[in-house]
Amino acid sequence: MGLDVGWAVRWLTLSAEAMAEHRVELIELDRPIGDSDHGENMDRGFKAVMDKLAEAPPETAGAALKLTAMTLMSKVGGAAGPLYGTAFLRAATALGDAADIDAGTLATALTAARDGIVARGKAESGDKTMVDAWTPAVDAGSAAAGADGGSPGRVLAAAADAAEAGAVSTDPMQARKGRASYLGERSIGHRDPGAVSTALILRAAAEAAEGAA
Ligand code: ADP
Ligand code: MG
Repeated sequence: MGLDVGWAVRWLTLSAEAMAEHRVELIELDRPIGDSDHGENMDRGFKAVMDKLAEAPPETAGAALKLTAMTLMSKVGGAAGPLYGTAFLRAATALGDAADIDAGTLATALTAARDGIVARGKAESGDKTMVDAWTPAVDAGSAAAGADGGSPGRVLAAAADAAEAGAVSTDPMQARKGRASYLGERSIGHRDPGAVSTALILRAAAEAAEGAA
């Protein structure tokens, strides 16, 4: 059995909880290589998503992700709002009105989300951005979907593990995109906040699928 709208709403709820819980950590990560607003932006954005979900409960996972995209685009400023907005919108389009999302469809949606971020922000792997969490997540999720016994839960668990490792991998990188790139070599030795929020969001997706996997 695949994932449904209940999973999507659990995912967004757990994401909102994670953004509130890690708000200060994300602010602190954005201080040395940014402008200290990432935790604030993401917490505000996902709180607004929760309000929208309560106002108009979505009927499909795709509709839930589309509502999320629109809300993040309007409520999260800075670089991250349009990037996450594009990611959720592309994922929503990939899911369409599917009521039962299988491992392959899920991997396609993750890939579409990452491709949207790259299309919008033009960052490559190694530029010290959220792409350095998304791309390993997409690779691991796609591999899990293609493996024997690949289930949506396994796709998301593999993606979350890889995103967490990807976030850690940004520590020694020199930023070449976004605000952190203004610091040049001084951006080395700090973890990218957007890569960390990506790992939190993908972990929330995996946790939401537990039991459904
Ligand atoms: P801002 O940098 O405008 O203050 P945020 O602090 O909310 O926005 O988000 C910063 C995060 O956005 C960075 O940590 C990085 O992961 C991500 N980011 C910035 N520019 C890009 C880009 N061109 N492509 C991908 N991700 C980017
Ligand atoms: Mg910032």
